[in-house]
Amino acid sequence: MSAACIFCQIAAGAIPAKLVYEDAEVVAFPDINPAAPVHLLIVPRVHIETLADCENQHQALLGKMMGLAPRLAREHGVGFEGREGAGGFKTLVNTGPGGGQEVYHLHVHVLGGPRPWKAR
Ligand code: AMP
Ligand code: ZN
Repeated sequence: MSAACIFCQIAAGAIPAKLVYEDAEVVAFPDINPAAPVHLLIVPRVHIETLADCENQHQALLGKMMGLAPRLAREHGVGFEGREGAGGFKTLVNTGPGGGQEVYHLHVHVLGGPRPWKAR
């Protein structure tokens, strides 16, 4: 844990957040400044700064985070219902200044719900 890192503090329970999912490796909670009607963040408990810092040892964790996205989307009413349906969601990882990353603790955004959305 990095004491200066807001997502480490949320994952450790030091800063309160409404967790919508947690297990030994990952937490998820709503984005404080949502860009869409549903906007969740999937965050590993371990402090990894960016996607570019991930190594082979992190593949299972990355897979878990990605795999959690459709489940959380479904639980929040924006699950994929087939190509003819209105449902579906966006998964997003911003990396570095060029990618628009603001919080330097790896996270996957899950966005969904009726458009228009704020640009991300
Ligand atoms: P990124 O640009 O990918 O680094 O996005 C960081 C996201 O974290 C932004 O969408 C912020 O609104 C969100 N965020 C920052 N602080 C908090 C917080 N304390 N709780 C929930 N979301 C946060
Ligand atoms: Zn951190």
